[in-house]
Amino acid sequence: MPLDRPIFESEHDLFRETVKRFMAREVIPFHAEWERAGIVPRALWRKAAEAGLLLPTTSAEYGGSGGDFRYGAILTEEVGYASASGLGIPLHNDIIAPYIEVYGSEDIKRTWLPKMASADAIGAICMTEPGTGSDLQGVKTTAKKDGNEYVISGQKTFITNGQNADIFIVVAKTDPSLGAKGTSLILVEADREGFSRGRNLDKIGLKAQDTSELFFDNVRVPQTNLLGQENQGFRYLMEQLPRERLLSALRAIATVEAALEWTVAYTKERKAFGSAIFDFQNTKFKLAEVRANAVVGRCFIDRCIAMQLDGTLDLETAAIAKLWASEVQGKAVDECLQLFGGYGYMWEYPIARLFADARINRIYAGSSEVMKLIIARHL
Ligand SMILES: Cc1cc2nc3c(=O)[nH]c(=O)nc-3n(C[C@H](O)[C@H](O)[C@H](O)COP(=O)(O)OP(=O)(O)OC[C@H]3O[C@@H](n4cnc5c(N)ncnc54)[C@H](O)[C@@H]3O)c2cc1C
Repeated sequence: MPLDRPIFESEHDLFRETVKRFMAREVIPFHAEWERAGIVPRALWRKAAEAGLLLPTTSAEYGGSGGDFRYGAILTEEVGYASASGLGIPLHNDIIAPYIEVYGSEDIKRTWLPKMASADAIGAICMTEPGTGSDLQGVKTTAKKDGNEYVISGQKTFITNGQNADIFIVVAKTDPSLGAKGTSLILVEADREGFSRGRNLDKIGLKAQDTSELFFDNVRVPQTNLLGQENQGFRYLMEQLPRERLLSALRAIATVEAALEWTVAYTKERKAFGSAIFDFQNTKFKLAEVRANAVVGRCFIDRCIAMQLDGTLDLETAAIAKLWASEVQGKAVDECLQLFGGYGYMWEYPIARLFADARINRIYAGSSEVMKLIIARHL
């Protein structure tokens, strides 16, 4: 039974219909092909731009649609329902664009946001390095001042949209002696000399996503490419992470709802020992647990969406949402796969892909252990 979600208004429902149609027509039929290619083509990004799906929450002044956070939430949820795990669009829309809109200079905003809205520029964020992920204080990439420029040197890895992106928000140390307090966010364009892309990494899931290594070998950018103020990068990351974690959580719950729907349908069709798999008490109990978790999760996440809208979503609440939703997702998807039997292990079944895709949610955007550290800090 669908859950009533009073946080959304009629215009949000219309947007959801647009996104659903786009997924059905332009994404789902081609996703397996993109998984084989390891990347979503730029042509799809252009179609998304034409359909009004890029930068829905960025101000209209900079080429966006000027919607509130719910539009980004809807798009992210629908990507989850469609199991379209290759799409780096939610990251581009709701993580990269806000960094530029909130901290970028007027010139940076006017140059890049309209291009991001039209798919002429795809964005990525580069925090993680081969030697450090959870502990961002350990970032080794440096940005040294030389005249009017920064000279950036270092290596990044696991970067979403790494092959497709045209602009990168790079987390770099502008004053390594200050530790985290010497961190800055600097925009680097892909055509700068000294920048190069490494491998498009071979992953166990998110097969259509171009998660990549990137190299910065004395890349020179003007100091005007700095986002916000020098040495304030760590603070900016902390300010933006709650929204990123909420998006991760709401997508996790959307995928639990999708897995439940597929599993109910499958187990009602499939027979064993003279009855539908669904009719075994074990199946009903497992699916009842999944449903209960999805409903409770959805209510809490909707409360978090309301907090994000009124500006009160804090690090701890977002960490609770991400921890709980991604752990529930992992367990629920595994239980659902079990009910598909051997077919659940076949890549052509969406539940198999979701099983592989979901695993990352407990690791990226802050691992479950890091979420627990944040929550414990408030005890
Ligand atoms: C598909 C994919 C996409 C990604 N996209 C991006 C992206 O676009 N941009 C980007 O910058 N990064 C991205 N990442 C990187 C991701 O955010 C990191 O992998 C994640 O933060 C974990 O860092 P790590 O891999 O270095 O693990 P580590 O930090 O080495 O952690 C290893 C283990 O130790 C645990 N651990 C660490 N510290 C503690 C502690 N204090 N207490 C207890 N346990 C601890 C962790 O939870 C984990 O289980 C992506 C990763 C993947 C796989």
